[in-house]
Amino acid sequence: MSNEGYDLRDDFYETLSKKYDDALISKHILYNGESVVNEIIQFPIDDKHSANAQLTLLTSLMHRPENNNKKNSENNPFEKPEPELTILDDYGANKELKLVFNKYPVNSKHFLLVTKKYSSQNSPLLPTELLATYTILEKLDKLKPEGEDWFAFYNCGPESGASQAHKHIQFMTLPPKQEFISYPEILIENNLFENNANNKLHIQDANEPLENKNLPFSQFIMKLPKNKDEITEDVLTKSFTSLLQHTLTVLRNNETKHISYNFVMTTEFMLMVPRSKSKFDDQIGINSCGVYGLLLCKNQELFNTVREVGILKILQEVCLPNSGEFKFDEYSY
Ligand code: AMP
Repeated sequence: MSNEGYDLRDDFYETLSKKYDDALISKHILYNGESVVNEIIQFPIDDKHSANAQLTLLTSLMHRPENNNKKNSENNPFEKPEPELTILDDYGANKELKLVFNKYPVNSKHFLLVTKKYSSQNSPLLPTELLATYTILEKLDKLKPEGEDWFAFYNCGPESGASQAHKHIQFMTLPPKQEFISYPEILIENNLFENNANNKLHIQDANEPLENKNLPFSQFIMKLPKNKDEITEDVLTKSFTSLLQHTLTVLRNNETKHISYNFVMTTEFMLMVPRSKSKFDDQIGINSCGVYGLLLCKNQELFNTVREVGILKILQEVCLPNSGEFKFDEYSY
C-alpha cells in the first residue's frame, strides 16, 4: 500500500503515551480515571450466540461540552487545538489533517484525527481520511503493547451523537479481548448472516455489506481483506461507499428527515449503523461507541437506567429497524 504522507514514525506510540501523560499532569486533559466504573454484560444475538457490551460510569464526561454546532466560532476546539493536546501538526498527503488528544477522554490516550480547515461533521469520510484512519490503526496495531486493541469511529450527522461540528474521527482502545467481544466480531466469526441471497456466501468473500437479521436494529458490516497489502485507498473507499449506500437506503425507507449514522473501523472490518435519534429517552446520548456496545454514562442515575433497560432496547430506539427481507440492489438509494 502506498502511504506517502501517511507514514507514522516508529516512535509514534511512545510519543502518544508520553504526550498524553504530560497533558494529564498539566491538566490540559481532564480525566478522572481513578473513579471509572466498568461493567461488562452479555446480550443475546440469537439462541446460540451472544456478544458483550460494556457500561462505563465516568463522571469527568460531565465537563464535556454538548452540541457545539457553531463552525469556525471561538468555541470550535479543533480550529486551533491547544498545543499541549496536539500530537501531530501535519498529517496526510497534503498535510490537511492533524492529530489531537481528546480533552475529555473516555480512556487513556483517546485521540482525534481532525481536518485543519473547517469541514462539516455531516459530510461522509473522504478517501484520504479513510486511508489516514486505516494507516493510524495499522501502525497502532504494530506498536501497541500485547493485549491492547484500538478502533476508530466517526459520528456523522445531527442525530449520530456528535457534539462538535468540525470534522473529527476518534481513536480509542477497547476493553480486553478476554472480557469483551463486540457483536460485529461475533457475527463475522460465526458468519451469522443467514438471510443472504446465497447462504454459502462467507462475509470474507462478500463484496456487499452484510446484516444480521436477528438484531432488532439495522447494522451493516464489510470485512476488510485479510491480506493487508490488498488494502488500498480504493478498497477502503469502495467498502465505505457501499456501507453508506445501504445506510442511505434504510434512512430513506424509514422516511428519516436527516442523514445520521455511526461508523466504526478496525484493521479487520467496517461497521455502519443508520440512526433515528441521538438520545435514548431524551436523556442518554448514544454515539458510535454505544452503537458498538460501549455505553458511556456520566452519572450513576444514567448508568442504572442503561443497566435496567439493556443495550438491545436502547439501540432499537435510537437506530432504525433491521432491514429484514428488503433486497438491496445497485439501484438502491
Ligand atoms: P463528538 O462528541 O463525537 O463530536 O466528539 C467530539 C469530542 O471532542 C468529544 O469527545 C469531546 O470530549 C472532545 N472535545 C471537546 N472539546 C475539546 C477540546 N477543547 N479539545 C480536544 N477535544 C475536545
